[in-house]
Formats: sequence, structure tokens, C-alpha cells
Amino acid sequence: MCQIQLTQLQKRFGATPVLADVNLTVEEGEFCVFIGPSGCGKSTLLRIIAGLDDASAGDIVIGGRRVNDVAPARRDVAMVFQSYALYPHMTVYENMAFGLRHLKLPAAEIEQRVRRAAESLHLTALLDRKPGALSGGQRQRVAIGRAIVRKPKVFLFDEPLSNLDASLRVKTRVEIARLHRELNNTSMIYVTHDQVEAMTLADKIVLLRPLEGKSGVASVAQVGSPLELYHHPANQFVAGFIGSPA
Ligand code: ADP
Ligand code: MG
Repeated sequence: MCQIQLTQLQKRFGATPVLADVNLTVEEGEFCVFIGPSGCGKSTLLRIIAGLDDASAGDIVIGGRRVNDVAPARRDVAMVFQSYALYPHMTVYENMAFGLRHLKLPAAEIEQRVRRAAESLHLTALLDRKPGALSGGQRQRVAIGRAIVRKPKVFLFDEPLSNLDASLRVKTRVEIARLHRELNNTSMIYVTHDQVEAMTLADKIVLLRPLEGKSGVASVAQVGSPLELYHHPANQFVAGFIGSPA
């Protein structure tokens, strides 16, 4: 089943167009990775799906419901940022529980969800700490935990590993792949500029590119599995970006 459907999506910042004619579907349970040159609109597209930015035109459908006018907290999505965005004055437990209190879930249900997520992410021993007393990798796990407890239909990741050092990057990438396997039917949309992450994680890659002759405006260059893009690039741009054999 189709989990996310973007139709004729456009985005302008003031008079400046950034995204044009983005059409895209993400299936239930699919791991979809957005790649493309820096500044082409990957984060903007993710923020529009999350509801943190408005689309200038087009439809955003999540789980069969048009959500253009639905608040972020009511979209059944959870977003993990590169910068973690944890509350420094709250403990790990409070950081993970905060969004659930907002949803007015019963206290016992909140505690159960937080403890379960903490266990799965090896955070149980750190629940009473504040973010300042955690390493970068631990902070990112808390940010992922905070998303998991909401049990969203869709996870949105914006370059979640780019602040981690190389070995932690690999470890956390493996964790995210495991998470995706465990959370049956949960879709992931993952933005990265790292080819290895894209090739290893993706069921489907969406490559964005600047439109020819329209400086600054981007759209979808090609959608396909990692192997499809690698072996059957739609054009020179895709081949060059992916590094396909000539
Ligand atoms: P990416 O994540 O692919 O690097 P972004 O989505 O961050 O790209 O940015 C796409 C384009 O939109 C860039 O040209 C950027 O400068 C512009 N942009 C992003 N956010 C804003 C904003 N809030 N106001 C104006 N321009 C923006
Ligand atoms: Mg970005």
C-alpha cells in the first residue's frame, strides 16, 4: 500500500522557486533515500512532508489522507535531525516522553513505550542523564528513541549521521537498518549526501537535481533501486552523480 504520495508538489521561498513538479510515492514499509547535490531541496522536501514547511502548490497525502493543512504532530510522522535537537534541561527519559505527554497518552503507556525504546537502543542505563552528559552517538540514539516512541507510520531522517565520527556512523547506520526491519510496515525517508548510506539502506533512491536552465529549481531526476540507478542511469547527470561505470 502507498504510504506517502506527493503530487505536483512545488515550493517557493518568497519569489524564489526551489522545487518544481515533484511527484513521488513511498510504499508502506519502504526505505526511501533522497540524494542530490547540496542545496537542491532535500531538507525542504522532508520538512514539507513533516509539516514544518508549507508546500506552495500540490498535494501531500499520508496514509490515504491529504495532510496539507494538518499540523506536524497529527501527521503520523516523526523526524530525526542532524543536530539531534534534544532539550538540554530534560533527562533522556523526559526527552523521549515529552512528545507523548503532548499527545495526552496515559502515564503507564508513556512509561512502557519509553522503556521499550530505551531497551532497544541500549539507552536504559542513561535514562536519568541530561544530553550534555552524553556522547554524540548516544544523543543521536535518544533522538531516534524520541521518534520511535511516537510509533509513527513514517520516519523522516535528515542526514542523521553526519555529525558522528566514521566508526559511529557505520554502527548507527546498522542500527537504523535493524530498526527498519523490526518496525514492520513503517516507512522511512532518509536524506543523505553519503553514497554508501544511500546504496546500503535504500529500497528506493530518489535523486533530486537542479532543472536545466532554471537556476536553483530542482526536481526528481530518477527514482529506482540502488542497482537500477547504478546500472541504468536515466541520463548523464544520474550516471555522474551515482558514479555508474561508463
Ligand atoms: P539540501 O537539503 O538539498 O541541501 P535545502 O532544502 O536545505 O537543500 O535548500 C534548498 C534551497 O532552498 C537552497 O537554495 C536554500 O538556500 C533554500 N532555502 C532553504 N530554506 C530556506 C528558507 N527558510 N528561506 C529561504 N530559502 C531557503
Ligand atoms: Mg539538507
